[in-house]
Amino acid sequence: MLDLNVLIPPYLLGLAGPTPCAGLDEIFVGDEAQARLAKPLCARCPVMEACGQWAIEHNERGGIWGGMTPKERRDSTRTPAAAEDCGSETAYRRHCALGEECEPCWSAQAVRIREDRERRLALEHAGPGGGSRSGYYLERVLGLPYCPNCRTAIKDASAQHKTKRRSQRLAAVPDTPEPAEEPIDAHAPAQAAA
Ligand code: SF4
Ligand SMILES: [Zn+2]
Ligand SMILES: [Zn+2]
Repeated sequence: MLDLNVLIPPYLLGLAGPTPCAGLDEIFVGDEAQARLAKPLCARCPVMEACGQWAIEHNERGGIWGGMTPKERRDSTRTPAAAEDCGSETAYRRHCALGEECEPCWSAQAVRIREDRERRLALEHAGPGGGSRSGYYLERVLGLPYCPNCRTAIKDASAQHKTKRRSQRLAAVPDTPEPAEEPIDAHAPAQAAA
């Protein structure tokens, strides 16, 4: 039973044609009698192994997947392969793509992000001036006290920004318009000469 509208399992991508269960939801989610009809179709499916593994990994509770009923999947000795590399960046990205929650992967990713920010902050401190505006923001997201050099850099940047804004505002003020001249009425009678 495949719900292609929600998610396309990777094992279906690149297949030359539809799998035997395509369009047959009623027998793939039906009762035992219908399961007996579904299983032979799975048996000749080119992705049967991967389909069953997918259902186990995603804890699919209903329907026939990879030729197995829900009970057969629960009893299966196959373990979720996804758990093997949990904690790695690859596993984290896979969970994201599949919309899955995984606490070990989320914690490991948070550690990686923090380490990356700390590494970037060290580079900012090693640069000219011993600190920078980026360093200030990195200290902020890392919850660290601001160092004097980064503080100075953000103050300078803020002062420069204000000066620039002020000159932009002044440049945007329109010049005082010239007073309009009296309109000339071409049809007015000519002034009689005195
Ligand atoms: S193994 Fe069965 S349920 Fe899975 S894709 Fe193939 S036919 Fe469909
Ligand atoms: Zn994980
Ligand atoms: Zn700093």
